[in-house]
Amino acid sequence: MPRRVLPFLVLGLLLSSAVALRRFEDRVLTTQPRAPRWYKGNTHTHTINSDGDSHPDDVVKWYRSHGYQFVVITDHNVITSVEGLNALHGLDARFLVIRGEEVTDRFGGKPLHINALDPARHIAAQGGSSALDVVQRNVHAIRAAEAVPHVNHPSFGWALSAGELAQVRDLKLFEIFNGHPQVNNEGGGGVPSLEGMWDQILSRGVLLYGLAVDDAHHFKRHDDRTASRPGQGWVYVRADTLAPRAILEAMERGDFYSSTGVELNAYDVTDSTMTLTVRETAWSKYRIQFIGRGGELLHEATDSPATYRFRGDESYVRARVLESNGQRAWTQPLFLRSAPR
Ligand SMILES: [Zn+2]
Ligand SMILES: [Zn+2]
Repeated sequence: MPRRVLPFLVLGLLLSSAVALRRFEDRVLTTQPRAPRWYKGNTHTHTINSDGDSHPDDVVKWYRSHGYQFVVITDHNVITSVEGLNALHGLDARFLVIRGEEVTDRFGGKPLHINALDPARHIAAQGGSSALDVVQRNVHAIRAAEAVPHVNHPSFGWALSAGELAQVRDLKLFEIFNGHPQVNNEGGGGVPSLEGMWDQILSRGVLLYGLAVDDAHHFKRHDDRTASRPGQGWVYVRADTLAPRAILEAMERGDFYSSTGVELNAYDVTDSTMTLTVRETAWSKYRIQFIGRGGELLHEATDSPATYRFRGDESYVRARVLESNGQRAWTQPLFLRSAPR
């Protein structure tokens, strides 16, 4: 190495250590208490460890490079290790991989799949004496493993009715949108859509929160509409920190909204009003609908921010946003009177 290069090298090292120190201080500062923020995530994804087509590292890279802050890896009946993935992709505290398992069971030919988010240990499929019993036994096993359960794609194989879902105990979350192309989100043949089932459940006074998820298996078939591709459905969770328990506790409080494309700039609830502000895109138009008991349309607005003033006799109020090309967002229901179970 020529001698005259050395001073520049030393100067460079000093500068880079100053930058490193500054970065360290930034990280220390960001670990201090701060206002809650919205984290974008997907709670249902597969890898080659079950029937996905991609390595866990490529799956995590996809989500991280597409504007998400967290992903839960939920392979069928197996827990994919996330420690190495977080070491690779989570060190700057901007992305989080949460462990999970899709507990995959069945009854009488009906597929019954329940996700376990952040389990302390592997959960074996529990079986049971009816579809409802299978779901309930698996939900209890998931809770016993200190995990958060969510019931997946209720109309895949036409497996579960609203009446059955409404009877499941110790459950707060189920999918109202799943990105797999064969899960019958829209219902048919006399079976309501998943959103319609949600209103039936809520109208019985049972509080369940509605999730939009990918259920992504195929990260290499971008143009294939028969594939279950990533980027179809997600949640935005309002939490203090990007940590598994903070995210999951916020979800079980209903502090999140679900989306297939529509994003919100603000969502605020007071004692008397619910207000949404849509993050509008230049070429789209929007309808903001407030929905109550029995799926009744209480109010529709075409401008954002949109506010609904509670009457007091709606039982519950939730909002959805319809975008002019079919994208949607759903906020979580708020019960106004007699407390649900
Ligand atoms: Zn499934
Ligand atoms: Zn799945």
